[in-house]
Amino acid sequence: MTLMQRAAKGLTSEVRAVAKREGVDPELVRRGVAKGRIIIPCNPIHSPEPCGIGEGLGVKVNVNIGTSRDHISLKEELQKARIAVHYGADALMDLSTGGDIDRVRRAILKEVRIPVGTVPIYQTGLRMARESAVVDMDEDDIFNGIIKHARDGVDFMTVHCGITQESVSWLKRSTRITDVVSRGGAFLVAWILHNDKENPLYENFDYLLELAKEHEFALSLGDGLRPGCVHDATDAPQLQELFILGDLVKRARKKGVQAMVEGPGHVPLDQIEANVRIEKSVCDGAPFYVLGPLVTDIAPGYDHITAAIGGALAAYHGADFLCYVTPSEHLSLPTPEDVREGVIASKIAAHAADLARGRGRERDDAMAKARKELDWEAMFAQSIDPDKARTYRSRGHNEDSEGCSMCGDVCAIKIVKEYLRKEGSRPRIEGKRG
Ligand code: SF4
Repeated sequence: MTLMQRAAKGLTSEVRAVAKREGVDPELVRRGVAKGRIIIPCNPIHSPEPCGIGEGLGVKVNVNIGTSRDHISLKEELQKARIAVHYGADALMDLSTGGDIDRVRRAILKEVRIPVGTVPIYQTGLRMARESAVVDMDEDDIFNGIIKHARDGVDFMTVHCGITQESVSWLKRSTRITDVVSRGGAFLVAWILHNDKENPLYENFDYLLELAKEHEFALSLGDGLRPGCVHDATDAPQLQELFILGDLVKRARKKGVQAMVEGPGHVPLDQIEANVRIEKSVCDGAPFYVLGPLVTDIAPGYDHITAAIGGALAAYHGADFLCYVTPSEHLSLPTPEDVREGVIASKIAAHAADLARGRGRERDDAMAKARKELDWEAMFAQSIDPDKARTYRSRGHNEDSEGCSMCGDVCAIKIVKEYLRKEGSRPRIEGKRG
């Protein structure tokens, strides 16, 4: 039986672990998993610390790492993996496309105890591209790639099952500027056009479900036609693919296979709420894994910020899982430092959404109290990035000053605290929240 099927019968160790981590009733998690509204990606071969993604739980953050043809360093990818874990990533995807891809994936799986995801068609497509052409891969190539990743212990896989011949016809009729920006999506669009056949992942979805059941990996139903610029957001090809994914989610649930749905992409602020609501409605509350969304196209070098703005709003409206974006998005393969900046930006977005959804307030209140007390160590302890906070604090700091170099000896907090203390009649705020 799969985890989803076991959860339908009663509490499982994974469900209990997620409930404990989230501080919620195990029954809430069990029901969510049984219905498919919460997933716990957990391939027994990798056996990561159980991480719940979905309804009623905290917003989670994924970090993408991996080699490219132009930059191959296993050492660096493992360093990125450790940085991601250090700064609180909840999951990691290895999107390697350069060098010994099998070796990198296996090393990452060995390195981290958080769930690991992959996009197997990258490896299959690249191998075919080097041998002849991407469009020459056949069904066996595609499914053998999935089986290989499953046997290595990959916990969740992006599979672009929702791109069909019909989607491609919508794409051809669209007024898009950027056509297709998903790598896996591009492979499959090219394959469908060249071979004039249906997407093997859609045609053989039942076989994919058998594999997912046998190897216990979760499906991340990819949005191969996600918008690649704000102009293309929420258009017909994107929505048509989403409607197909909604149908596939229901088929996966019937077979006891965990599935989440990937979402855009580039979306202006005013369309984000609608995107989340449509996904939740069409996919019957399936966990929504958003790639950003980036709220503007004009900030290369700062896309961790454009994505964090969109991610916070998406999560506030119900998205469950944020895929981080780094400052190097659209420009180059991220460095370890880019990974650090990206994961921190996403963690801020996730926490901001959690706060507005009624979770995690204790930490903000603890920070506020530490600020009031000018207790710098306590402030660092509550910081999302204590190292950076400590570095900034030390810049130009006068050892005689309790405050910081911003106001120097006219520290507002210090002055008011002193005079309120003299008054001696300050009402206490303890006992409110946090
Ligand atoms: S010196 Fe100014 S900025 Fe620094 S802690 Fe005091 S009030 Fe805050």
